Amino acid sequence: MQVFLAAPRGFCAGVVRAVDIVEIALERHGAPVYVKHEIVHNPHVVADLEAQGAVTVETVDQIPEGAIVVFSAHGSPPSDFEAAAKRSLRVIDATCPLVTRVHNEAKKFQREGKKLILVGHRGHQEVKGTTGQGEMFLMDDQEDPQPPGWDPDTEVAVLTQTTLSVDDTASMVDRINSAFRNVTVRNDICYATTNRQSAVKELAELVEVVLVVGSQTSSNCRRLREVAERSGVPAFLINGPGELDRTWFEDVTRVGVSSGASTPESLVQAVCDALEPDVVNHLGLASEDIEFTLPPDMRDATPPRRSSSWAT
Ligand code: SF4
Repeated sequence: MQVFLAAPRGFCAGVVRAVDIVEIALERHGAPVYVKHEIVHNPHVVADLEAQGAVTVETVDQIPEGAIVVFSAHGSPPSDFEAAAKRSLRVIDATCPLVTRVHNEAKKFQREGKKLILVGHRGHQEVKGTTGQGEMFLMDDQEDPQPPGWDPDTEVAVLTQTTLSVDDTASMVDRINSAFRNVTVRNDICYATTNRQSAVKELAELVEVVLVVGSQTSSNCRRLREVAERSGVPAFLINGPGELDRTWFEDVTRVGVSSGASTPESLVQAVCDALEPDVVNHLGLASEDIEFTLPPDMRDATPPRRSSSWAT
């Protein structure tokens, strides 16, 4: 069997930054450091940080007064910051800068008097954070939605969740453009999502089965599996080697492997090892050299952090 490893894959700059923030907070302040919502959507990363003293909670009111809390990479609504202030919490915000940019766009477009449509998945943490920035109509492509019934001359601005399918989002934007004459569209799908989906499309042309390593709770991992499947090959999303099913590989000689933006590279390597391939081919379809700066009061922390070594 030959294994083909997609590139880029695995940790994005926003995930590296978020994990670094929790580790630096633990080093500086000691345990416990509370984390509101899974810091990134991967159970291995969460468990590793919890073993170091992080405590993951879902709501601010689960955190003792005066404690330190890191808000996850997906972003949080202003109401969470207000609730934290009421409990005298010290908040360290690990929101990915690309998500913060969407929040800022939402506020800017509202100041300009535009009505907002957000293309995103109902209930996802990032969507909770973005819809908290002001009034907006949510279009979830998983629900086959129609645009809102506003006057066709309404000035409309369209924002998107950062981890959506590039193709599905284009179809939602087409529907919106058909319904309104004055539409401003921001493509907020991030570089990491776009690059990983492009890499999986090319990978799928070379192999008979695609494995995406990552969590079912990760939006970008689920989109990668869908992209591979729509390219015409069976595709499976697995947390790690323990979820491999040998029946997927009967008469298969070429297997593709990729991983989402929150998946440690160690899990990809473990899956690759478990396949016991004769040859491993490293595809080099795009390179990424993006880094995000840490919050100002952490910039003196000593790099490299351990999370950097988890990335490809
Ligand atoms: S997937 Fe994109 S938006 Fe999400 S943390 Fe990574 S870089 Fe940021």
